[in-house]
Amino acid sequence: MAWINDNFLKLSAGYLFPEIARRVNVFCNSNPELAKRVIRCGIGDVTEPLPEVAVTALREGVEDLASRERFQGYGPPTGHDFVRAAIAQSMFRERGVDIADGEIFLSDGSKPDASHFLELLGSGNVIAVPDPVYPVYVDTNVMAGNTGAMVNGRYQGLVYLDATAENGFVPQPPSQPVDVAYLCSPNNPTGSAMNRAALTHWVNWALSNDALILFDAAYEAFVRESDMPRSIFEIPGAKKCAVEFRSFSKNGGFTGLRCGFTVVPKELTGRARDGKRVPFHDLWSRRWSTCSNGVSWPVQKAVAALCTPQGQKQMTALCDFYLANAAILRNAIAAQGLQVWGGQNAPYVWLKCPTGLSSWDAVDLLLREAQLVTTPGAGFGNCGEGFLRVSAFNSRANVQEAGRRLAFLTTSASKR
Ligand SMILES: *Cc1c(COP(=O)(O)O)cnc(C)c1O
Repeated sequence: MAWINDNFLKLSAGYLFPEIARRVNVFCNSNPELAKRVIRCGIGDVTEPLPEVAVTALREGVEDLASRERFQGYGPPTGHDFVRAAIAQSMFRERGVDIADGEIFLSDGSKPDASHFLELLGSGNVIAVPDPVYPVYVDTNVMAGNTGAMVNGRYQGLVYLDATAENGFVPQPPSQPVDVAYLCSPNNPTGSAMNRAALTHWVNWALSNDALILFDAAYEAFVRESDMPRSIFEIPGAKKCAVEFRSFSKNGGFTGLRCGFTVVPKELTGRARDGKRVPFHDLWSRRWSTCSNGVSWPVQKAVAALCTPQGQKQMTALCDFYLANAAILRNAIAAQGLQVWGGQNAPYVWLKCPTGLSSWDAVDLLLREAQLVTTPGAGFGNCGEGFLRVSAFNSRANVQEAGRRLAFLTTSASKR
């Protein structure tokens, strides 16, 4: 008999996005004439084609593999040296952040990285997550056995950090002892971003509490305000208390191609049971060389191309396009007299539903009346109830139409 990992049975019934997809399918099957009107601003997936530099490099990478002279087999498990150097140079050192090439670990994305990093942590850590939260942080901890059962929408054993309208959707450090805390800035789902003072406060908290911050910066390329750090390592002391997850999914449109990286500073340590301090860098290197053979050659070439000045320019243009979409959505929502957050340093817009409308009510209403797919704030945690996330990842025409259709939130709601 094969025993299963019981922790999987603690997971709440459905992952959020399959549930939304199910409702959209039910609607489309029973309203086939309206099905082709559906506009999807639900899931956070990019819509625009890859930057040109990446396409050219991918083609070259495939040609290399087709050539006896330039053929590439296995590469180093944590990425080719020239790619790690290109990332460290263009995305950190040129921005005044002292990160060594060897502190960059290439991977197939930051969702898997955030999940795998838990392999390095022992049992018994007290773990804090924001609420609302990117569901991956919570569910991977459930699978790893770091929680109890779910009670009233929250897993026992986790510390939830409330992000509310009152704190601008930027959670404060916990008052109780915590060993590991997740932060995501710019934030999915709320679209908020932490400024330098807020992030400094968190780093100082981690240093004085000997805690580890798992910092998800998947959306750093969307930061437009100079007061907002694009990396936690811009904050003094962060190399002693944080790892940073980065992704080419949103800035470079790599959601289908797959590549991200994790920055693990050499001076970052955790504690072994015998009290010794052990560098996470050594453990993460070991984990990669044991469990993976890294990222494909064409994809690594494409990443190096994104790191060139031309590639950086094309990534900025891609993010600017989605930010302009977000501005259209923000304006449309504000014009309805609804409160709106985010969208200025992130591709997500977060709105307060009209009074009396729950998150799922609003999602169902927009689907039924306007054939617009959005994401319920409640799907990201208890603090998300009464809010809605609208994704700016779409074509300009669809976003303009989505902006018009959002009016159904107030017009149909007032008719109820
Ligand atoms: C999209 C996203 C990522 C990126 O994940 P990949 O696996 O690199 O595609 C990471 N974190 C958050 C919060 C995201 O929304």
